[in-house]
Amino acid sequence: MRCPYCADGSSRVLDSRVVGRAVRRRRVCQSCGQRFTTYETLPPPALTVIKRDGRVESYDRSKLLRSLRQACYKRPIPANAVEDVVDHVEAELIRAGVSEVQSRQIADLALSQLSCLDEIGYICYASSVRGLQTAEDLVAEVEALRALQRRRAESRVQMRLQFDLDQPHWN
Ligand SMILES: [Zn+2]
Repeated sequence: MRCPYCADGSSRVLDSRVVGRAVRRRRVCQSCGQRFTTYETLPPPALTVIKRDGRVESYDRSKLLRSLRQACYKRPIPANAVEDVVDHVEAELIRAGVSEVQSRQIADLALSQLSCLDEIGYICYASSVRGLQTAEDLVAEVEALRALQRRRAESRVQMRLQFDLDQPHWN
């Protein structure tokens, strides 16, 4: 692994962390002593996303990252937290073994992650994906957030992607 500061080839791994499908390694250069982080990640899942209006597009990791970054803008969360959310969402999509997913289901997975990361980020993201219009919508979303947090606390497991056709969903 080449050091990004001095291009020396010898670095030592200080710490490795698995996040979703990615591995982050904190390294120190043996030559100049600078520290840097490397990421090993699999390519994003090849998925077809069905949008709310029925249009179809390919899954785009950067788009999901962008909308989550917007929702979490200036929130006091760790630097890699938004990447972690996307990694967890992708891991769950891969676990589900599907080739097609609705955009709403991706949003639900991201919201499940946000519910235990940052409440304001959750509300901002919910607002952008569900189009909250009124104060009542906002109150309903806060109640949904609390219900989600309770479910997560009770089951102590991550929210799983549901593919039942009659599953109640958000509009
Ligand atoms: Zn170096």
